Amino acid sequence: MVADKGLAELGEFGLIERIQQQAEPAPFLRLGIGDDCSIQAVAADDELLTSTDLLLEGVHFNLQWTDFESLGCKSAAVNISDIAAMGGVPRSLYLGLAVPDALSVEQLDRFVAGFVAVAQAHGAVLAGGDTCRSSGPLVISVTAEGTAPRGQAVCRSGAGAGDLVFVSGTLGDSALALRLLQQGEQPSAPLAGRHHRPQARVSLGRRLAETGLATAMIDVSDGLVADLGHILKASGHGAVLQLQEIPLSPGFSEVLAHRPEWIELALTGGEDYELLFTVAAERADDIAQLAAELDLPLTRIGTLQGITGLQILQRDGRHYHFRRSGFDHFSGR
Ligand code: ADP
Ligand code: MG
Repeated sequence: MVADKGLAELGEFGLIERIQQQAEPAPFLRLGIGDDCSIQAVAADDELLTSTDLLLEGVHFNLQWTDFESLGCKSAAVNISDIAAMGGVPRSLYLGLAVPDALSVEQLDRFVAGFVAVAQAHGAVLAGGDTCRSSGPLVISVTAEGTAPRGQAVCRSGAGAGDLVFVSGTLGDSALALRLLQQGEQPSAPLAGRHHRPQARVSLGRRLAETGLATAMIDVSDGLVADLGHILKASGHGAVLQLQEIPLSPGFSEVLAHRPEWIELALTGGEDYELLFTVAAERADDIAQLAAELDLPLTRIGTLQGITGLQILQRDGRHYHFRRSGFDHFSGR
């Protein structure tokens, strides 16, 4: 590919200036891009939540399948999702970019536009970052900071015996879109949207934390089985799930009608960014109310039980066996 002159002419600091021009202010951000550090006002009774994610070209995204604005949206959303999964309010995002020569200034502009738009939609800001040239793929590193009132953040470790397991939205759509793309097929617009522009469930996470409804919580990034496994391990419980209760979108169900074995994508496919959480059984009615309030399906899919690990039961009561538990970067699949 031809090296992009625009980027070379603009240089590192020209590029940072362009990013700075797109970044929006926020009342809590005293000083954003342009100095050695950002400065933020923090409330005395808040706790700071911080999370980092890497997104690598060829590993997390494929530039043949996504546009740059969507990639920017997704880079912000998946990090904000980690703040949502603790019940926090997203505040500041930091964007590390290793940029290959082949990228154009326009492509980077669109990436930043998507990134900033998603941040803004959640009341968060792009407060800083780092920029360098990549001799290989495009590398995106995002750090997200959020806050939660002291003691409200929901950890993976708080699930209790007998708690019910809930999940928001629908599962498997993103993994199904990816599977279709990998096979050279075109996913429907709703499926593709779930993969390229996932939504972070910030309002839900916040409500579950401030009401104390969620005893444990995680966002579904590696797949239901793997992410519930994290809650079970951290909480020291086992769980039984009902396969027929797993919430599926119309688009997913449509494909499933022809390829029933792809139900596995709803169990072990990643990147749904729905919230998976546990709730004390006597508070189940509050969850129904919250679902109505947020106009978001919150589905009970199982129960924590005194067993080891995770069992998934089919409608006829037989155990469902899955081939792998979820995405693991080092498992060599
Ligand atoms: P330093 O030498 O202190 O690391 P830099 O020259 O790398 O400073 O960055 C200057 C300013 O621009 C800093 O405020 C930094 O946070 C910000 N910045 C650099 N790269 C990015 C980026 N990709 N996105 C947002 N802000 C950035
Ligand atoms: Mg720097």
